[in-house]
Amino acid sequence: MNLEEQIRQNYSNIIENIKISAQKVGRSSEDIRIVAVTKTHPVDAIRAAIQAGLSVFGENYAQELREKAELLKGENIEWHFIGRIQTNKLKYIVPVATLIHSVYRIEEVREIDKIAKKLLKIQDILIEVNVSGEGTKGGLKPEEVFDFLNNIRHYENIRVKGLMTMAPYVDPEETRPYFKKLRELRNELLKEFSDISELSMGMTNDYWIAVEEGATILRIGTAIFGERKYKGE
Ligand SMILES: *Cc1c(COP(=O)(O)O)cnc(C)c1O
Repeated sequence: MNLEEQIRQNYSNIIENIKISAQKVGRSSEDIRIVAVTKTHPVDAIRAAIQAGLSVFGENYAQELREKAELLKGENIEWHFIGRIQTNKLKYIVPVATLIHSVYRIEEVREIDKIAKKLLKIQDILIEVNVSGEGTKGGLKPEEVFDFLNNIRHYENIRVKGLMTMAPYVDPEETRPYFKKLRELRNELLKEFSDISELSMGMTNDYWIAVEEGATILRIGTAIFGERKYKGE
């Protein structure tokens, strides 16, 4: 199989799994979007994925996003930024990102707002929440999110669309409580912040569990493109 056929088949398996999980809990799979995570993968893989019907791509590194967006200019696709944010690199991210998933520091918000203002853009973002409490993970503690949202209300060029989290890398079934916690937090916050309906959660290891627990955006890399090869490997 060539790359495009392989991606097409992987994508169709994922769609099938999403449908099954959505049906199980009475959700429509139409309410669930896939972000194809392309970090480390070459532009040719992204082109193959476009041919296979994917149109939303997620990158983790500002420079890589910037280069790939430039090379794929003119394609009818959407870029999401899902990685750790370095505030001084936001100038590369905001001009191309439809959605930034991983915001949790006030200085990031301030900088995004400033850049978006210059671009006459309203930047959609998600707030990253560390539901597992793992020290290696970014994000706010669940109990910090309300105040954070309140504090950033007045930034006019930012719109918070929802919450994002990463579950620990454990047996898929054990990820369920983390996804559930993010959903419950979102439901609670919706009473005060009416726009934050999105839940970006679920990756290759656990996306079908995330679907059962209410994910609206899945970030999937390996299950679409295969294992990532890092430089030097
Ligand atoms: C790399 C990455 C993903 C995709 O991971 P896979 O296991 O390859 O599906 C999703 N979300 C974030 C934040 C990532 O860094």
